[in-house]
Amino acid sequence: MAPITKEVDYLVIGGGSGGLASARRASGMYGASVLAVENKRLGGTCVNVGCVPKKITWNAAFIADTIKDAKAYGFDVEFKGHGSFDWEGFVKKRDAYITRLNGIYEKNLKNDKVEYLHGTASFVDAKKVKVVLDDGKEVEVIAKNILVAVGGHPILPPVEGAELGITSDGFFELKKQPKKVALVGAGYIAVEMAGMLHALGSETHLFIRQDKFLRSFDPMIQDKVTAEYERQGIHIHKQSSQSKLENIGNGQKRLHYKDSNGEGTLDVDTLMWGIGRAPELEKLNFSVTGVEQNEKGHIKVDDYQNTNVPHIFALGDVCDKGFELTPVAIAAGRRLSDRLFGGVEDSRLIYDNIPSVVFAHPEVGSIGLTEPAAREKYGDENIKVYNTSFTAMYYSMMEAEEKGPTSYKLVCAGKEEKVVGLHIMGLGSGEMMQGFGVAVKMGATKADFDRCVAIHPTSAEELVTLK
Ligand SMILES: Cc1cc2nc3c(=O)[nH]c(=O)nc-3n(C[C@H](O)[C@H](O)[C@H](O)COP(=O)(O)OP(=O)(O)OC[C@H]3O[C@@H](n4cnc5c(N)ncnc54)[C@H](O)[C@@H]3O)c2cc1C
Repeated sequence: MAPITKEVDYLVIGGGSGGLASARRASGMYGASVLAVENKRLGGTCVNVGCVPKKITWNAAFIADTIKDAKAYGFDVEFKGHGSFDWEGFVKKRDAYITRLNGIYEKNLKNDKVEYLHGTASFVDAKKVKVVLDDGKEVEVIAKNILVAVGGHPILPPVEGAELGITSDGFFELKKQPKKVALVGAGYIAVEMAGMLHALGSETHLFIRQDKFLRSFDPMIQDKVTAEYERQGIHIHKQSSQSKLENIGNGQKRLHYKDSNGEGTLDVDTLMWGIGRAPELEKLNFSVTGVEQNEKGHIKVDDYQNTNVPHIFALGDVCDKGFELTPVAIAAGRRLSDRLFGGVEDSRLIYDNIPSVVFAHPEVGSIGLTEPAAREKYGDENIKVYNTSFTAMYYSMMEAEEKGPTSYKLVCAGKEEKVVGLHIMGLGSGEMMQGFGVAVKMGATKADFDRCVAIHPTSAEELVTLK
């Protein structure tokens, strides 16, 4: 049977954050004929196997921590550790919430008159895309503009038996809470999951390649969060490498590794690889487009999300901008549609001063340059750094060994002391970061921070009273 052919102004491949935002803007706001294709679940990584289920799990872990802390405030409660948390029931509720979100996303597409096909897209040539629907039928799409917003997927290392471990995708499929778990990786995903599992009572081992994790963050964050994880009792295996993972029966796996203490094995019920992600281009037959990719396979784009092929655009995790964050994909998607269909010629996302948060234990917030990057850019003599470390009032009722750390750093440049980097860790940093992000994006100076009257008693006030 000959495939159905459709012609549209805009074909969006990938129903994740970036693709959907761009598709809805182009059709709902500017009336372009738009077709969006998704082969898994609407909302993409963020909604299904990323930010949303992660944050809900973090909330559960936060509540576990609060129960632990409640005793110090005089409450007669106790967190009884692994087994006392109804993981199975929690996961069911979390999944149901995500399914509701999937439905809302589909409704939004309808409201904005975006045609939506559930199927897998692949390029026939640079102008034509074939979509294989769930029932095997094929639709050919000829589009004036094509957006590639297919995101990425987690990768496995070249270690014998690696497939016996899970990735972050598998983390969200766990029906039982791991009793003893190993996580491999030093990026934010492994660090977040390790913090959550530990807080919920799993014996947690984190394998990192060097001595600290979160290595793209300011050294203050690396030092303090690594030390805090150790203080909390997470087993950190430094300078580690893994050679083999094997099944040893009873649902147990044995990891063969090396770390700073030498060679060893560790038996766990779950191992999660959190070693990185790769662009999801495998099914796209992408090479026929002639679009350039970098050495890691990410699609090369300019400041306007243009690829080297005039009518093909890319954004989000699949492109080479290096900011793998949902709001970045959404903002790039909307601005691209403003430019292509709304006549806003210069519309583009400016990829600097993008705030981000790591939902570690405690949370981390960061915007702008790290101290070393600022020193390199502006020269040592033009950089002034303000630091503070203190015990948040939340811990006032606790014994010394129960108190968590809080540390903030402002990196200022030039005579006017423009804030070019802000790095915070401690309770509440996630929510604090957004507002301070606005200030830094506006070009605030240290004097602007000082002019803002403190809100007392908060931790955030320390950022406007730094000496
Ligand atoms: C565990 C984890 C936690 C995260 N936490 C956060 C967080 O707290 N905050 C934050 O901002 N970001 C977070 N992220 C990152 C965030 O999820 C991504 O940056 C964001 O989802 C990227 O959006 P995207 O539109 O580029 O791609 P995606 O959301 O990945 O969407 C791409 C979609 O394209 C589909 N697709 C791929 N190939 C095809 C094809 N050939 N045909 C049809 N469809 C196809 C995929 O199925 C997918 O649904 C997290 C990521 C992970 C993995």
